[in-house]
Amino acid sequence: MTWRECMTRGLDRRGTIAGAALAAAAASVILFAFASGSGAASRASLTVNLPPVATDKIYAAPEARGRPIVVIDAGHGGRDPGARSVSGEAAEKDLTLLLAIELRDDLVKRGRVRVAMTRQDDRYLTLEDRAAVARRLNAAMFLSLHMDSAPNPLARGASIYSLSDVASDAEAARFAALENGGERTRDGNGSVDAILSDLAMRAQMSASADLALRLVRKSAGRFELRPNPHRFAAFHVLRRAGAPAVLFEAGYLSNVGDELLLRSAEHRSMIALALAQAIEADVASRSRH
Ligand SMILES: [Zn+2]
Repeated sequence: MTWRECMTRGLDRRGTIAGAALAAAAASVILFAFASGSGAASRASLTVNLPPVATDKIYAAPEARGRPIVVIDAGHGGRDPGARSVSGEAAEKDLTLLLAIELRDDLVKRGRVRVAMTRQDDRYLTLEDRAAVARRLNAAMFLSLHMDSAPNPLARGASIYSLSDVASDAEAARFAALENGGERTRDGNGSVDAILSDLAMRAQMSASADLALRLVRKSAGRFELRPNPHRFAAFHVLRRAGAPAVLFEAGYLSNVGDELLLRSAEHRSMIALALAQAIEADVASRSRH
C-alpha cells in the first residue's frame, strides 16, 4: 500500500470516527465500527485493496482491570522483513515478534498494566496502522521493538530512541530514515500532524524522553548498551502514537555476537524483563501526578 493510500484510508477512518461519535457519543461504539467494518467504513474502503490491519485485542490479568494500556509494536512484518542477520538465517521481523510476545506475556503475568499488540503474527502493517492502535485505545504508552543493522560489523549493543524534531546524531538520523521508509509525514505544514497541538507534542516528547531514560537505567548492567544509549530522532511511528512513545533497538543483527544473543530465548527474556520493569515504573510515576 502506498503512503497516499495509507493516509487516505486514515482520513476516511477519522471521518467514520467523527460520525459515530456524533451519533452515539460512546467510545465502545467507535471501536465496534472499526471491528465490524460496517457502514461508512466499508464504503470508504471500496476504492482501496486493504490488507488486514492491526487488531485491538487487549491482554490483561483479571487484577489489571482498568489499568493503563501499553501498546507493544513488533517492528516490520509480512513483506517487510526489516534487517537481515549477518548469518542470513534470521530476519528482524521474526525476532521483534518473539521479543514482543515475551514482553506481552511478562507484563500480563505481572498484572500491573494491560497490553495490546500492533501485530501478533507475520503481517505487514503501515506505520500509521501501528500508531493508530495506540490512539484508538487511548494507550498510556507505545513501545516499538526493533533491531538494527550497520555497515560497521563491530557495532553492537542496544539503544533507545525517543521522538525529537532534530536527530541527536547522524546515525540516529540514518536509523530514523530507514525505519520511516517511504512513509513521511508532511512535517511543518500542520495538515497531517494536526492531531496534537504543538504544546501537546512537546509534552509527549518530554514524557517519551523520561521513559527512554528509565529504560536505559533498567537495562544498564543487564545487557550491553551502546555508548550514549538514549538517542533522539524524528520517527514517524512515535510522532503519531499520541502517547509517550519510544523505539527500543535491541542490538545489531549485523554483528555476529549480537545476532547470537538476539536469537537466544534466554537473552530475549532478560531484555523483556528489564523492559517490563521500566514500563511499570514509568506508568506508576505518571499515575502519581
Ligand atoms: Zn527496524
